[in-house]
Amino acid sequence: MTSSKTASSLAANVIKLSDPEKELLDQVDVFIFDCDGVIWRGDSLIDGIPETLAKLRAAGKKMFFVTNNSTKSRAGYKKKFDGLGLNDVPAEEIFSSSFAAAAYLEQTKFKDTGKKVYIIGEVGICEELDLIDVPYIGGPADSNKQPDMGSGGMLEVDEDVGAVVVGFDRNVNYYKIQYAQLCINEHDAQFIATNLDAVTHLTDAQEWAGNGSMVGAIKGCTGQEPLVVGKPSPLMIDYLENKYGMDRSRICMVGDRLDTDVLFGTDNGLKSLLVLSGVTSEEKLLSPENSITPDFYADTINDFFAAAPAPKEA
Ligand SMILES: [Mg+2]
Repeated sequence: MTSSKTASSLAANVIKLSDPEKELLDQVDVFIFDCDGVIWRGDSLIDGIPETLAKLRAAGKKMFFVTNNSTKSRAGYKKKFDGLGLNDVPAEEIFSSSFAAAAYLEQTKFKDTGKKVYIIGEVGICEELDLIDVPYIGGPADSNKQPDMGSGGMLEVDEDVGAVVVGFDRNVNYYKIQYAQLCINEHDAQFIATNLDAVTHLTDAQEWAGNGSMVGAIKGCTGQEPLVVGKPSPLMIDYLENKYGMDRSRICMVGDRLDTDVLFGTDNGLKSLLVLSGVTSEEKLLSPENSITPDFYADTINDFFAAAPAPKEA
């Protein structure tokens, strides 16, 4: 083995899960699952998932389900889980980035400032802020507004806005961008992003511009970088550690994306496992261009309870 770093040397470091009991289940108390590409694809549950989750629960494993999609609240996602037959998943196990934004505001005692939030985003963020009793404006209520851009026209903003939360918004418009710009540039409001995902999967026919595009608009007019609360920010792990006293080294992040899910795991001192049931192919994982290495990979999480097929000859 004297060759330089090649695909085969990387491939040698990426282990396909073959003895799940010993390699994984004995080493891990908490699983953090990305949802799309791991639990479901779009609106269809991946085969075998309810049985696998039930086995993990029976084995005493704690589980959390994480999504960077901020358009739904925890309660909204709970309905999606129920609709797919995953009724055993309580809302407390669901971490949407809408919830992460609210958790951040709660941790930093935003409510005590007496200020309100301006939202670029959908109902998920509004519902989460309602739950922590933080007042907000914007969001869906501003979807059809236009600023007065005639001679001498201006947009008056509420001076009590202390933070702008930017999440995925299918009705983003110039009014919302100008409102956020004024709050941040003229009133020193904090700039918080639920996530920076470049693309998202609104439909399965193509990729769609993700929240990175909404955040990019606000970066462009403020010159500021946002505080990011969703993956791959460490905020959620800090939250789990504080709330449940969890040991990072016994947490495993499971996802289908290298640059968000696996990176989130490796950056935060967690174990990481890539599943091939979503957007990343085995070829991409093992390619020389990829430098992000999970501890293990598997076809689906169902492999946690079955011996994976023998690896193909190298
Ligand atoms: Mg995914």
